Amino acid sequence: MSDTPRRAVYPGSFDPFHLGHENIARRASRLFDELIIGVGYNPEKALSKPEERVSAIQAVVKTLPNVRVIAFRGLAVDFVREQKARFMVRGIRALADMEYEFTMSLTNAMMAPEIETVFLMAGKEYTNLSSTLIRQIAKYRGDLSSFLPEPIIDTVRQSLARPET
Ligand code: ADP
Repeated sequence: MSDTPRRAVYPGSFDPFHLGHENIARRASRLFDELIIGVGYNPEKALSKPEERVSAIQAVVKTLPNVRVIAFRGLAVDFVREQKARFMVRGIRALADMEYEFTMSLTNAMMAPEIETVFLMAGKEYTNLSSTLIRQIAKYRGDLSSFLPEPIIDTVRQSLARPET
């Protein structure tokens, strides 16, 4: 057995980072020595800027000493390699996520066979949460308190208050 810390990356767009994501991050932080939440740049899902997402997520996980939050661009597998991690964490909601996540993990395994993808089932209270739906609710100024951790609600409100460019 090696003494190398078991480092994992949990990549995603996290736009916004909702309670389902937080649940996965908390559980993954107990499975690995170090967890890096990788905040990807995805122009199709742009509610808030990556750097705003990073600081809001940092506020959410500040009580978890082995978790760091870092923005990245490009392929998740490249980011995982750059961070010298051996594991990629992904969350699975229901059957609907299976096909996409399975295909992606097999493709990632072809590109980076040394990285193992670890799937965690969504917590039962959070299986319905999706960033896409939450963005729609946010745009119509719906109540976000059942879906998002407090620091994220503030960031989403600030993004919506900004005039579109
Ligand atoms: P991506 O753009 O990479 O799909 P997302 O931000 O939508 O990123 O999601 C990041 C990860 O979190 C994905 O593995 C996704 O399946 C998972 N996830 C999304 N919603 C939930 C949820 N409600 N519960 C648990 N995991 C989730």
